[in-house]
Amino acid sequence: MSTASIKRELEKYGLTPNRALGQNFLASDAAAADIAGAACENGCPVIEIGPGMGALTVELTKRAPMVAAIEIDRRMAEIIADRLPEVRLINADALKADIPGLIAALGGRANIAANLPYYITTPLCMRFLSIGADGGIPAMTLMMQKEAAERFTARPGDRVYGPLTVLAGYYYEVARLMELSQDMYYPQPDVDSVVLKLTARGAEKLSELEWLLNSAFAMRRKTLSNNLRAAGMPDERLRSLLEACGIEGNIRAEKLTVEQFANIAREIEARGK
Ligand code: SAM
Repeated sequence: MSTASIKRELEKYGLTPNRALGQNFLASDAAAADIAGAACENGCPVIEIGPGMGALTVELTKRAPMVAAIEIDRRMAEIIADRLPEVRLINADALKADIPGLIAALGGRANIAANLPYYITTPLCMRFLSIGADGGIPAMTLMMQKEAAERFTARPGDRVYGPLTVLAGYYYEVARLMELSQDMYYPQPDVDSVVLKLTARGAEKLSELEWLLNSAFAMRRKTLSNNLRAAGMPDERLRSLLEACGIEGNIRAEKLTVEQFANIAREIEARGK
């Protein structure tokens, strides 16, 4: 959709963009086609988060065997139902919707595609990563503000290195596909955006990894030992766990690599908390 056609459609339905819902619509058919191409590479059904007026949805329906979309704004959901009746539409908050149930209904595997609403980018991505490849998400193609994308590509020691970085890096290959300038949206956001593609690595599911990350990063200024102790791990168990993993107790979580976190999570799984 071009900026002119977005404005026309908004006018036709008597709507104005809702900034509180992060409604910055993609105004580039070429970018929408490229993003949809990346999102549909493996031939799986696709779940789109926040279809808005359908700029990306139209392109997804041309390439995916099935498209489902979760949109919180009832009026936007009505536009999609009107324009693209073949899309399985869920008018709900994507943070609360039953995404595992939807994946099951789509045959057990579905990619995620989204031009993410900026105000919930991190919690939404944490939700997708928590469901993960094991829960039926083989790939995600996600457009987000540049700053949010840095969390996915951060290195140990970086300011934004955290649970999202480690979960994404352990379970998925993260590739930066393209950058989109502010003028490719209507209305224009304050910053440029980036499209990331996450492709499942086939890594073994680690049942304690999320607990470990949430505990280890609970207080960024505290050491790993202090954070794990605060999360309820007894001293003796903590000491032998870190010793077995060859990790100093006084290190901070932000210095550990993805592989080190994975090793600790495996040990916790084997020994218990
Ligand atoms: N996909 C469209 C596009 O690219 O033009 C719209 C993208 S716009 C950045 C974000 C969309 O997410 C809006 O349609 C907004 O209403 C929707 N949205 C915001 N919060 C949501 C939530 N919690 N659950 C589902 N959709 C949400």
